[in-house]
Amino acid sequence: MTFTEVTKEIGNTFLKSKQEAFKGHPLASRIRKDWPGALSSALTLAGTPLNEEEYSLDSSPGLGQWSDAPWLAVFRKDITSSATGGFYPVFLFEPGFETVCLVMGQGAEKLVKAVGKKAALVELSARAVQMRRAAVSWEKEGFSLGPFATMRRASVQSEKKSDTDPWSVSVAFGKRYSLAAMPNDSMISADVIKMIKFYDLLAKDSSMRFTKVDEALEGLKEEGELPEGSVDGAKKVIWHKKFETRVRNSKLVSDVKKLLGTRCQACNFSFESRYGAGMSGYIEAHHKNPIYSLPDEGAILKPTASDFMVLCSNCHRAIHRAGCPDLETFQRSIELK
Ligand SMILES: [Zn+2]
Ligand SMILES: [Zn+2]
Repeated sequence: MTFTEVTKEIGNTFLKSKQEAFKGHPLASRIRKDWPGALSSALTLAGTPLNEEEYSLDSSPGLGQWSDAPWLAVFRKDITSSATGGFYPVFLFEPGFETVCLVMGQGAEKLVKAVGKKAALVELSARAVQMRRAAVSWEKEGFSLGPFATMRRASVQSEKKSDTDPWSVSVAFGKRYSLAAMPNDSMISADVIKMIKFYDLLAKDSSMRFTKVDEALEGLKEEGELPEGSVDGAKKVIWHKKFETRVRNSKLVSDVKKLLGTRCQACNFSFESRYGAGMSGYIEAHHKNPIYSLPDEGAILKPTASDFMVLCSNCHRAIHRAGCPDLETFQRSIELK
């Protein structure tokens, strides 16, 4: 079967199959095996086989039960290894299963888990804008902005209008095919190859390593240091922590302690008084400057009271979570609680 034929069969029978048992269903195995297999063959026939060291194909009819819509994605191994994060070209059906789209989409699950749905949507939409800017000629190559009602996260069946799908903002660009007038395999392959070229271009851009950001956000959340609100605020804390880790054991920090002492400037806690002489001299240095103006790597820093404060571990964590306000604002906020 050609890729076009398999895609049509999936689109035409999915809703009916959903009424039947998932386990062992022949359509589920069509989606898992034959769909990516047919795409791989089509690309090989077109003279542009996928390099398996760099890319992988993945598809899913659902996990343990039918999903709202099946998908088939191309992953660049250095960008993502699953549909839950990063970005990737993906085939997705739209509500009604009369159309299928090839879009440069994004995985949202990891980000949603870290920052919640609302902040994730804002961030995904900003990332889509960033991808469009960097890909430059997507419109010239026949792709459009949509909107596409494609994301399997949305309940596809219940969505009536494509522009009501909140997740469509996470699509950078794409193309829609009508199943009734689906182009042949060589035309589809040409579009997939164009999409992969954009994928390669975006992957070279270090600012597109979104999965790394998502992991750092998850880390902040686990540490209790994730500021509420936008992801932008959290990104600044990630940057700030990187900087503080870099200088943690340096002469600079020991000079800061000499200057500011070893009592927490926010709550007056002293490690030595609480835990004994073994903890004498322990305190953490927090860089005070607005985090968006942190010094570059290699910059010469001075241990001054205008650049640093010393904090106990609890206050240090809490000031990050608050988005790094100044000492007075932070103290007022803990006194109020
Ligand atoms: Zn403290
Ligand atoms: Zn800090």
